[in-house]
Amino acid sequence: MPLLELQNIHTYYGGIHALKGMSIEVNEGEVVTLIGSNGAGKSTTLKTICGQTRAREGRITFDGKDITQMRTHDIALLGIAHVPEGRRIFPKLTVRENLEMGAFSVKDKQIIEEGIERAFRYFPRLKERIDQKGGTMSGGEQQMLAIARGLMMKPKILMLDEPSMGLAPILVEQIFDIVTELNREGMTILLVEQNANQALSVANRGYVIQTGEIILKDDAQDLLANPQVREAYLA
Ligand code: ATP
Repeated sequence: MPLLELQNIHTYYGGIHALKGMSIEVNEGEVVTLIGSNGAGKSTTLKTICGQTRAREGRITFDGKDITQMRTHDIALLGIAHVPEGRRIFPKLTVRENLEMGAFSVKDKQIIEEGIERAFRYFPRLKERIDQKGGTMSGGEQQMLAIARGLMMKPKILMLDEPSMGLAPILVEQIFDIVTELNREGMTILLVEQNANQALSVANRGYVIQTGEIILKDDAQDLLANPQVREAYLA
């Protein structure tokens, strides 16, 4: 059984039919990427999974449970972390406070401290800046903080929306290295990217989305070699 499964998901924004029957599977331990151009429905897919926007039709199951109608908060508690596009950290809070917010349901101080220590192992840069306000950090540091915050609840799956957006190439490399490292240590990852080349290089499998529909799904290596994909997304 897949860890996460979307079956025939339809999502609307008012009259706009944003997802038109999406079916996606993510197995435990995989990195799966959703690629597609602007407005294809990648972000909407992640938002629908975490209940921020509702599917009008279809079914989403996670870890054996039907989560289609669950509240966002409860979905997060089940182990789905969503790191949204545009690194929405709390600008006025320090690095430490941002991380503590990520562990919103954890009461035990010890567990929070362990989470922060774990975050600092992946992101040593954050440790040096523990008391700095989030909003004064560079774009790359803010992205690291956003991912670190997502990890605070020890999720079973990490959903990353365009983690490379707006970052210098060296930082893009770093972010993808971290994705690889997290996965090597067992984290399941659903990665939305416009940077298809990089995303497919770290993923096991990928789905190509166009105007709310999956037009292609395959092993990442095969998508990378696919002439249609190369022309449309890797040029
Ligand atoms: P991008 O890479 O540009 O973020 P995307 O593939 O993530 O693109 P979505 O953000 O999921 O695309 O958008 C899918 C479609 O839904 C687009 O046509 C978009 O205009 C529309 N849409 C997204 N959010 C809303 C909203 N809040 N209200 C109305 N329409 C929306």
